[in-house]
Amino acid sequence: MASNPCRRYGCTVCCIDSKMTLTEADVSVLESAGFTDFVRLNTRGDLELKNRGGRCVFLTEAGCGVYEIRPEGCRLFPLVLDMQSDRVVRDEYCPHWREFPIDAAGADRLRRSVELETAEAERRQRNRG
Ligand code: SF4
Ligand code: SF4
Repeated sequence: MASNPCRRYGCTVCCIDSKMTLTEADVSVLESAGFTDFVRLNTRGDLELKNRGGRCVFLTEAGCGVYEIRPEGCRLFPLVLDMQSDRVVRDEYCPHWREFPIDAAGADRLRRSVELETAEAERRQRNRG
């Protein structure tokens, strides 16, 4: 049996109407693989995956079409950073959130990714202004 709950349950809940934000490195990896037209800028200045027909542009009938090179946020979800408490928590939007442990390595990766996204968004806002 697959150990990853996403694959075990064939779940794609977080890929429907995705709000997944991206680092510039995430974008580069996907562009280097030949993908185009998958990213948009949201109102906060974050890079975000595009949806088409209410689903992430990379979602296929067989699941994530870029699984091996999916963005860091997709790898770490349902771990998210709660901005108010500054704590790494599990997003209960994921129906299987209880099966994802919060380990120190995952929490560190998440913090680094969010810090990078924030710094990149701030730099874009400054360059716009
Ligand atoms: S992280 Fe949760 S919501 Fe997303 S695919 Fe995996 S099990 Fe489903
Ligand atoms: S890139 Fe893959 S894992 Fe991430 S939201 Fe899209 S389909 Fe889901």
